[in-house]
Amino acid sequence: MDFSSSSSWAAISLVVLAVFATVAAVLLLRQRERIVRQAAELASDVEALNDRLWTLADSEEHYRSLIEAQGDLIVRRDGARIVYANGAYAALLGLDETQIVGSLAQPRLVASRPAQALEGGARVFDECLATPEGERWISWVETVVPVALGQSVLQRVGRDITARIAAEQELVEARARAESANEAKSRFLATVSHEFRTPLNGILGMADLLGDTGLDAEQTTYVRALRTSGEALLGLVDDILDFSKVEAGKLELASEPFDLGVLVETVSELMAPRAQVKGIELAAHLAPDLPTHLVGDRDRIRQILLNLVGNAIKFTDRGGVGIRISRDDRMVVIDVADTGPGIPEERRQAIFEEFEQADVSPARRHEGTGLGLAIVRRLTALMGGSVGVEGREGGGSLFRVRLPLEASEATETAALPDWRGKRVLVVSGAPFGAGFLREIIRAAGGDALVASDAEEARALLRDPASCDAALIDQEIGRTEAIALAAEARRAGVADCLIMLSPLERRQFGSPREAGFTGFLVKPVRARSLYQRLSPRPVLSAVAAEPAASPPPPSRPRLSVLVAEDNEINALLATRTLERFGCAAVWAPDGSRALAAIEAGFAGDGPCFDLVLLDIRMPGMDGLAVARAVRSREKEGPGRAPLPLVAVSANVSDGDRAAALAAGMDDCLAKPLERAALQRWLDRVAASHPLSRSA
Ligand code: ADP
Repeated sequence: MDFSSSSSWAAISLVVLAVFATVAAVLLLRQRERIVRQAAELASDVEALNDRLWTLADSEEHYRSLIEAQGDLIVRRDGARIVYANGAYAALLGLDETQIVGSLAQPRLVASRPAQALEGGARVFDECLATPEGERWISWVETVVPVALGQSVLQRVGRDITARIAAEQELVEARARAESANEAKSRFLATVSHEFRTPLNGILGMADLLGDTGLDAEQTTYVRALRTSGEALLGLVDDILDFSKVEAGKLELASEPFDLGVLVETVSELMAPRAQVKGIELAAHLAPDLPTHLVGDRDRIRQILLNLVGNAIKFTDRGGVGIRISRDDRMVVIDVADTGPGIPEERRQAIFEEFEQADVSPARRHEGTGLGLAIVRRLTALMGGSVGVEGREGGGSLFRVRLPLEASEATETAALPDWRGKRVLVVSGAPFGAGFLREIIRAAGGDALVASDAEEARALLRDPASCDAALIDQEIGRTEAIALAAEARRAGVADCLIMLSPLERRQFGSPREAGFTGFLVKPVRARSLYQRLSPRPVLSAVAAEPAASPPPPSRPRLSVLVAEDNEINALLATRTLERFGCAAVWAPDGSRALAAIEAGFAGDGPCFDLVLLDIRMPGMDGLAVARAVRSREKEGPGRAPLPLVAVSANVSDGDRAAALAAGMDDCLAKPLERAALQRWLDRVAASHPLSRSA
């Protein structure tokens, strides 16, 4: 039994061992399988990793080659130290890419332009850098680029713009060259036309003097022709001079108060003889709501008007020319209308260009430079205004200038008379004047009945509602006008005025004897009409019709020194002075003029009452003489200052200022205008000891 039990234990032990061994073997097998599997997975991971690494290397190479290929300069810096730079940037410094990273290398800055900030914090700027290949302009875009946790570097990407800058520079230089050539041209024109003026003024002045020497009829005709041609030439020279001044930007605009009515009258007076010669009407009208005084450059506005009115008269053979000035908001509107041939629509733009004429056919009828309207356009633009032309209903042209002119403080508000219920008959066939009269009458609340001839007027007079006044234009014929006045009187018209041009006024005789209550000089001004047809004066300052110029007052014989280097001008000035009853002494240069004045001061020569000093004389000029005279006067106390008047061929604002600064009393233009000279002589005579004692 013992034996059997011990053998059973052994058997059991063996079985247990076998089971353990089997389990261990199974576990080992599983373990191996897992290890084999993991090894396989690891191998595949390594392979994928290798693939990624290769792709990455490939992509970096790809981007690097792209960056290198595009030619832009790229640099990244951490502070001043370069952390990355491409080949193009390295080349800019003449270095190799491998040398540059980690260095503090910087190209030398030659010039730079101000930076511009872009959205997102970037900056754009241009720099000129010294490189081994010479100076290069680079346009940079600078940005801050984050690189690692909280860290960033400054990145600049630059493009070489040297060629563009060179082209810009060339353009600037070319423009400067063109401008200076243009300026030289304008200067040349100004000088040449200025030089033309001097002999021309001599010719004109001599023609004047010659005309006064008792010529026969034939000689008078020749002298008149000489004068007309000379004036035409002077007009052209003036045009060129003005144009060159505007071109060269030399024109200084004045800004002073002026009387608009006086301005329009001056233009009408100057232009009226031309219109009379052609037998056409010249009418002017100022809208009653216009300020009487404006602020601006009176002379330039007059020049605009003279150009437009001059053209209108030149191109109009029948009918007339009307100047109308009105107000549109803050703009003063100057209309110059005519009944001439008009301007084809397709030429209306071009005629404002220099040297352009509406009719460019070789057989064109009108002479001229084609500069007048170009000057008008430039002047109006300079004043901030505009000019244009349109066709008129019924034919002719209408030039319209709009200027931003403010009313001056000196402006008078003209109280209009109350003509409500007043009926005024206007008998006139004048294309513009009749319409303007109607406007004047209506502005006062009156009723205007316009008849273009005597027949129409008679029909209106037969109307039982009789008129209070009649204005009859002598242009309908003297006999007809007188007959009509008689009929008007019979029809109960109380006031009957005849309208006459200044020339007709001289020939008409007494209006009262002809059956009129009075006369009006054409162009009829609103003020005059209101005054004539109102029971009492209605305006604060009513100007009377211009009276015939009074005979020259008898005055003491004045002694005048003329300092003038040009012999002809001197002859002209001295002769004119002699005509005015003065004793004229000529000094051909500044130093001789000063010597003559000093001799007078010392009692060794004539004491002058007035000195005319040419500004430009060789050697001692007029300004130097004036300064010397004023300083001598200070040395001799109690001496009354000698009236010194500068004379210049071209009075610019600069000339005038220089003359006044040198101590002169005035500056007059050459050729000496008789009226201006006379004003000075009157002034000097008024303070003359002989006048005072008289
Ligand atoms: P100019 O009169 O010296 O030729 P402008 O510049 O004054 O030069 O005028 C240019 C052109 O415009 C004239 O030649 C003419 O053909 C045309 N023109 C100007 N004003 C008038 C007008 N009132 N009626 C018809 N044509 C005109």
